[in-house]
Amino acid sequence: MPEIPAAGPLSAAAVAKDSQAASRKVELSEAEWRSRLTPEQFHILREKGTERAFTGALVNNHADGMYHCAACDAPLFKSDTKFESGSGWPSFFEPASPNAVELHEDNSHGMRRIEAVCATCGSHLGHVFPDGPKPTGERYCINSASLNFEKQ
Ligand SMILES: [Zn+2]
Repeated sequence: MPEIPAAGPLSAAAVAKDSQAASRKVELSEAEWRSRLTPEQFHILREKGTERAFTGALVNNHADGMYHCAACDAPLFKSDTKFESGSGWPSFFEPASPNAVELHEDNSHGMRRIEAVCATCGSHLGHVFPDGPKPTGERYCINSASLNFEKQ
């Protein structure tokens, strides 16, 4: 995945520091998360893992409906904001509501990236890049394993 430039639609103003994260509506212990998630989901959602490109069940899903957080079931993305990015991960140009997804600086792996986190439970979803389509110019690059799809 490419790095985020310093300016543009994802400039630092919109990005919360971890210390400023809102209090979570859903907070569970590590043992509780392990008991309700599969090992792959736990690794991605709770340990900030990344599934291999083109392996996720929802990459090529084109049905109408809502994508929910696989950890807490909060609605995160609508099917009409999903687009073909060619990246191998489900890609959206905006969250279902402005408060559904939080953005955090992620300076791991020697890159400056923007991490996308479920605002309700704090679980890792993926990253956001400033090379998406109109109208937002943003690309929410989300792990399939972080999402449950509810068909309309
Ligand atoms: Zn969640």
